[in-house]
Amino acid sequence: MRVVDLTGTYVRVALDHPLPTLFDYRCDASLAPAPGMLVSVPFGKRHVVGLVMEVTAHSDVPADRLKSVHSVCAACPPLSEHWLQLTQFAADYYQRGIGEVALPALPQALRDAARWTRLFVPEERYRLLPAGRAALPDALPARATALRRLAAALADADTLPAAEARALHAKAIATLEAWQAEGWVALEIVDPAAHSLSRDHTPRSATLPTLTDEQTAAVEAIRDARAFAPFLLHGVTGSGKTEVYLRALAALLAINPQAQALVLVPEINLTPQFEAAFRARFASMDDSEIVTLHSGLAEGERARNWFAAHTGRARIVLGTRLAVLASLPHLAIIVVDEEHDPAYKQQEGLRYSARDLAIWRAKQLGVPVVLGSATPSLESWWQVEQGRYTRLTLSRRAVADAVLPTVHLVDLEEERRRGRASVEGLSGPLIAALKARLARSEQSLVFLNRRGYAPQLACDACGWVAGCPRCSAYVVLHKPERALRCHHCGWESRIPRSCPECGNVDIAPLGRGTQRIEEALAGAVPGARVLRIDADSTRRKGSAQALFSDVHAGEVDILVGTQMIAKGHDFRRVSLVGVLNADTALFSHDFRASERLFAQLMQVSGRAGRAGLPGEVLVQTRYPRHALYHALARHDYVGFANSTLAERRDAHLPPFVYQAMLRAEGRTLDAALTFLQQAAASLADIPAASRVTVYDAVPLTIVKVMHVHRAQLLIESASRAALQTTLRSWQPMLRTLKGVLRWSIEVDPLDI
Ligand code: ADP
Ligand code: ZN
Ligand code: ZN
Repeated sequence: MRVVDLTGTYVRVALDHPLPTLFDYRCDASLAPAPGMLVSVPFGKRHVVGLVMEVTAHSDVPADRLKSVHSVCAACPPLSEHWLQLTQFAADYYQRGIGEVALPALPQALRDAARWTRLFVPEERYRLLPAGRAALPDALPARATALRRLAAALADADTLPAAEARALHAKAIATLEAWQAEGWVALEIVDPAAHSLSRDHTPRSATLPTLTDEQTAAVEAIRDARAFAPFLLHGVTGSGKTEVYLRALAALLAINPQAQALVLVPEINLTPQFEAAFRARFASMDDSEIVTLHSGLAEGERARNWFAAHTGRARIVLGTRLAVLASLPHLAIIVVDEEHDPAYKQQEGLRYSARDLAIWRAKQLGVPVVLGSATPSLESWWQVEQGRYTRLTLSRRAVADAVLPTVHLVDLEEERRRGRASVEGLSGPLIAALKARLARSEQSLVFLNRRGYAPQLACDACGWVAGCPRCSAYVVLHKPERALRCHHCGWESRIPRSCPECGNVDIAPLGRGTQRIEEALAGAVPGARVLRIDADSTRRKGSAQALFSDVHAGEVDILVGTQMIAKGHDFRRVSLVGVLNADTALFSHDFRASERLFAQLMQVSGRAGRAGLPGEVLVQTRYPRHALYHALARHDYVGFANSTLAERRDAHLPPFVYQAMLRAEGRTLDAALTFLQQAAASLADIPAASRVTVYDAVPLTIVKVMHVHRAQLLIESASRAALQTTLRSWQPMLRTLKGVLRWSIEVDPLDI
């Protein structure tokens, strides 16, 4: 007989644990538990932080096995019902446990009960006053270096938290108090939970640009939406989509004094540009009213910003995909800029699409959501075609006399046939165009989606190619770092002097990456200041920002880089874009490769000619007659989208079917494939799976990474519901299968 404890208060708690169940705990009623509260509970031998999902009067767990809640987090007001529903939806849809979704979405500091008492306490900081700015540092003795450092820190940031001041100098606080007495600085106390809702944040109209008719129509449509309203803002590059976001936000904030806005961007590197635009526009908002949320923030700052959003103090939250799971009690509009960008898809753990969750969230709350792009995803375009989303079009560039660039294709075969000179993959016409820009002091951009010096290092004599000992992949030659590097696992070694197989000393790099092009440009365009921006050159925190500032400041003539330079940046003096090595993506086995290539080329082309300088794009190709390049040359997204959608429909591919991917990792490829074959066979026992198509289990293109072999099984259905039901029944069956190290399900996979 089971002993059931029928008296008292119980909580059902979500923990960050792969099992999709809630865990019951007894809870002292004096702790006043409520759904959405964070609690510290015993789990095994440890204490862990969990999230209360339910408070109940009884539990089915035998009383002798029930443990008690240790403490609740008083510093953090409970998460809302809406937020719990959002994470529950994400967990269900992406086939995860609720705790695996909800807890990782919280700032790290909240997930450590030992830190709860120190969280979100009011912060003291000193502000430099005009009198202080005038007097300091001249009033200080020349040799008082520590005091001078304190003054410099204040002058740099205007405000200095007391804690940081103490770290600078043991007697800093005494000094600051003396300066306060002089009227040089003021002490401020910032309470992260305090509100300032009474203030009016309407931007001053004198400084605003006059909207184009298309921008006006877009802003009015968004402003007038009174319920769930998904908009696709299809605006060519440079058409002023940001201005539409700014105006729509201002309009909504003016209507609703509590309203919060969530603005998503695809990459961390785009946040400073956006943040600056929003801070300039909403100048009356302080640091905690406009906040950013992304993985590049220090832990403390991320926690503070999250908390400002959670308490409703932050009115504008700007962030990367993870921000879609922020707690926003008064969310009134969501913007997803560059909505087509694959970066919105998380590629590990909970493999969610931030764009799709943004739409779900807007629907749940009955608010507008704006998806902006020059090259919308075919998924979103298809929603418009079906009448589910409203299209808002910006067909022209916003800045007077900025027109879309002219696109020319450089036929590499023809160049070769005619015996025209090229330098290291840079064709004659491209070099000539780069030189012409240099002579006119205009900037150029060279785009190549491959980092490193060369993708292979090979021996001509015996055919050896340097490979990774842990992966089934070649290693990439990195010349400045003097290393061979595996881009899949990070393995690194020195560059051998001779072939390890046959001793030949004539080993040579094959193919070209950004480092090699950077080197070639220096030789081919004498006198040009060349800057490379890619994941290698920006490894240090903050360095990407510094490099982009150099470009904006005009200290660079030629910028060479990967897709990092293609996205979103408003480069004012770039008049030429060169595209190298785009052809490889034309013939990929992944059906989305051409959509991605087209978007990338439109994006990178869009960096040219933004401020009145006539822009030109040169695409080097062996296939100048390819339809994709022709659509690019005509700036014809609509034509490209419609013909690609027709192909997808004929081939029964997304968005006309829904897909899920089961991936398995084993010690051998056989183990992984066997697991997937058993998994496929078990689908026969699931009724809903009769409406699901199952493909063969296949190895991944890079089959081995870090000694682990990887394979995948694709399933799809014309019915999203049938696919979801199948996945739900499938999971418990998969848990009983053995023989692999790991397996995972991805819903709506982007990389096939
Ligand atoms: P997109 O995001 O559509 O590529 P941006 O938002 O970067 O375009 O805008 C391109 C440029 O046009 C920016 O420098 C912006 O300040 C400017 N701009 C936007 N709207 C207007 C307008 N109505 N009048 C003049 N300039 C504008
Ligand atoms: Zn050899
Ligand atoms: Zn490797």
